[in-house]
Amino acid sequence: MKGFISKIERFEDGAASVFFKGCVHHCPWCCEAACQGAAAADRPGVREVEAADLVAELLTQPLQQLTLSGGEPLMQCDFATELCSLLKQQQEVFIILETCGDVPPPQIIPILPYIDLIRFDLPDSNDMTYAANCGADPEMIYGNLFNLSRLGFPIQLTVPLIPDISNNKQHMTNIAQILDEFGLHDVMLIPYVNCQEAWKAADFISPFHNIPDLSLDHAQNLWGFLAQQGMYSVSIGSIK
Ligand code: SF4
Repeated sequence: MKGFISKIERFEDGAASVFFKGCVHHCPWCCEAACQGAAAADRPGVREVEAADLVAELLTQPLQQLTLSGGEPLMQCDFATELCSLLKQQQEVFIILETCGDVPPPQIIPILPYIDLIRFDLPDSNDMTYAANCGADPEMIYGNLFNLSRLGFPIQLTVPLIPDISNNKQHMTNIAQILDEFGLHDVMLIPYVNCQEAWKAADFISPFHNIPDLSLDHAQNLWGFLAQQGMYSVSIGSIK
């Protein structure tokens, strides 16, 4: 089966990320301009590839961990599932699925046997602004989060700290409530980074083009606040 990817990133420790093209959301702060829009090969760097060929390409170098990123990998769930299945047949690789969780359950269930960790993205805890800014369906998202957590699936909540949306203590309080409600403990805060250069390369102007990076001090402040709310494992990560 073929699918569309926009790039592969490799790291020295044997980890790699595959970025899937296309997303169900249209977050104005997104750093993957190539991932926005319908799943067609019409953006710089996007290519169509067979799952088996992609596995062969990935295994040309040592590979211990693979992250399915994007974009939304579950928009191409059959391709993503075949990729993971073929990879696990050939080698034991720790596979991480990054998702916004905004897809119907039949698009999630088939891939689960091959996934070791889900990074579940939650940039906005206000249902109205999340829907308005990103086209999110909070009912679908929380329904999936509930079902995955009830299954006991390993989940890390990833929380982008977006200026004027989620870089505040109220959002951290809401995140603590969500962690408690869903029985989750692992959360990673991701400070906002200005991605205007990536958008320019794809011939877009980001609505966030004038907004500077969030400072590490600000992120650490929110990290400390959230860590005090409960027995959580809170870390600070980076975009991709
Ligand atoms: S969910 Fe992630 S990949 Fe999709 S538009 Fe939003 S930031 Fe970009």
